[in-house]
Amino acid sequence: MSESSLPERIEKHRAVAAWLEFQLGQERATIRRLEKEAVEWDRRKAVAWRERRFTVQEPRHDEEQYVIHRGGCMNNPGARDYVQAPEVVIMMQGKNVEGCRTCNPMPGLRGTWTPRLAPDEGA
Ligand SMILES: [Zn+2]
Repeated sequence: MSESSLPERIEKHRAVAAWLEFQLGQERATIRRLEKEAVEWDRRKAVAWRERRFTVQEPRHDEEQYVIHRGGCMNNPGARDYVQAPEVVIMMQGKNVEGCRTCNPMPGLRGTWTPRLAPDEGA
């Protein structure tokens, strides 16, 4: 077999280098796409976490009621505490409460099981 000429060898290596550059571009594009998917996944997870919870808007005056919102409701933008249904029910026992008219959280709280509070057994 005859050896390739020097110009042929150079041309083969240029072809390999071009192919490797193309592959590198493909891999970098895949990495960018997956990184965007990971960010979107985290965002959706955070939204789902909030949507499964409730927030309580405290009354500004004694005459006002506490207002319960679903976690994703925009009517309670300052909310920091996202609590689950049983916690809301326990927190709001004996308090003057209404459900937000926009997000309508009450159907999500209806039938919520809460642990029976142990009577104070005294000391
Ligand atoms: Zn609301």
